[in-house]
Amino acid sequence: MIKRDMANVLIIGAGVAGLYASLKLREEGHDVVILELENEPGGMVRSIHMDGFIFDMGFHVIHTNNPYYKGFFFDLLRSQINEVITTAKSYYDGSLHYFPPILREIMRLPMRVRSRVLIDLARGMLYKRLGKQKGNFEDQLSLLTGEYLYKKYFKHYTEKFWGIPANQLSAKWVPQRVLPRVKGRSAQGNEWQAYPTLGGIDAIPKALAQKAYSAGVTLNLGSMVVRIKTKADRAIGLSYIKESKEHDIDFDVILSTMPLPDLFLALAKQIPNHVETRSMVYVFLCVNQPDVLGDTSMYFFPNEGVPFTRVFNQKKFGYGCAPNGSSAVEVEFPCWVEDKIWKTSDSSLIEVATSYLKDFNILKNQDVRKTAVYRQRYAYPVHSIQYTRNIDLTRQMVGLKNLFVAGRLGRFFYTDMCGAMESASIAVEDALSFLSIKANKSRRIMEK
Ligand SMILES: Cc1cc2nc3c(=O)[nH]c(=O)nc-3n(C[C@H](O)[C@H](O)[C@H](O)COP(=O)(O)OP(=O)(O)OC[C@H]3O[C@@H](n4cnc5c(N)ncnc54)[C@H](O)[C@@H]3O)c2cc1C
Repeated sequence: MIKRDMANVLIIGAGVAGLYASLKLREEGHDVVILELENEPGGMVRSIHMDGFIFDMGFHVIHTNNPYYKGFFFDLLRSQINEVITTAKSYYDGSLHYFPPILREIMRLPMRVRSRVLIDLARGMLYKRLGKQKGNFEDQLSLLTGEYLYKKYFKHYTEKFWGIPANQLSAKWVPQRVLPRVKGRSAQGNEWQAYPTLGGIDAIPKALAQKAYSAGVTLNLGSMVVRIKTKADRAIGLSYIKESKEHDIDFDVILSTMPLPDLFLALAKQIPNHVETRSMVYVFLCVNQPDVLGDTSMYFFPNEGVPFTRVFNQKKFGYGCAPNGSSAVEVEFPCWVEDKIWKTSDSSLIEVATSYLKDFNILKNQDVRKTAVYRQRYAYPVHSIQYTRNIDLTRQMVGLKNLFVAGRLGRFFYTDMCGAMESASIAVEDALSFLSIKANKSRRIMEK
């Protein structure tokens, strides 16, 4: 890895947002250095390879309806991409039900409930069309789906997932939910979905990083940004630690995709107390059983008694993610850093996950060949009401003219890979306009 101590644009983080931004900036002829904490690029889009099995860090597929991004992924992976349809079931009232609920299931409800649900849904569709807005997640979603479906499918799952009451979550999170539909089984609504043919989801950042290297981007791995010095409204210096030594680097502009709370720390600023992140613990199970989860990609567990929320078999959409006759099963436990789940030992988490999966008849005895556990501190920016009210304020608190934020935790908004890249494009435009103003200013001074 080349060590450089000067960059025109310094990018913090080699997740999809940082890598994508680096390519856009190189297209404009800028000199770009990326500093990445980990020893490999990818950030959240990461996969663990173990004994012929591949596990992504949480359920990941490419999903979009934007033709630009579809084309982008096809080009990036040189058409080594499979179109997939992921499907889900949710466990409630003692059995599994397809999610999202479609008309056929709704018609099977007892008549009294069914008419109520249909009226609520019709009214919800009207409200949606009229753009009617309520303040919190609970009010807004029950407005769109009605009380019955909201309680069965959304309330408990949401509260378990986010760890806060649904009426404390912002209504801005509602559009991220897949609502009841007339037909179709896809767990991602009407979106186009795909998955790399070779490798896991990490094929994406690997290809992006390769493209960035070829375009002349300097990618400095194992480099943790620890301090950003400021003067008035400018960032004037940055220090990072690599191989236990502190280094400084000069720059004109910083584009940060590191989590916002850590950016505040690096700037020696107080983290606003409404900036909270939800963490995840993943249990990976290499299973000697071909068809775990039957015809479905994932199961949701909204019930409080079960400590995890989602189980999926990666082989259902990542066809090369487990050897023939076996399955790559992953269990997701949402948590807070340092809570009971986070601190549970790996062996107990594996024990808990496998015993529940056996109780639910998902796994049979003696099926699990190998296991692993991974803890992810920064997984989801919590869109609480307090946070959303203060979202612009929080970003303004960074308050520097030559530092731009992008990405899921960098900008602190719940988004997918395409959204992270979109935010990188916006930050790049802002950075370019800052640089062109700066260049014009220097030109005017020289002309004078
Ligand atoms: C469980 C789960 C499931 C998901 N499923 C999907 C899905 O199906 N489809 C989809 O499109 N998206 C999905 N996403 C979202 C997707 O993973 C993210 O939107 C995307 O990866 C965000 O990319 P990013 O570059 O913004 O952030 P990150 O990937 O977090 O990149 C930030 C980078 O900054 C680095 N960094 C942090 N601190 C420092 C520091 N101090 N110095 C240097 N570097 C630093 C990090 O190591 C990291 O590499 C999912 C996310 C999760 C958690």
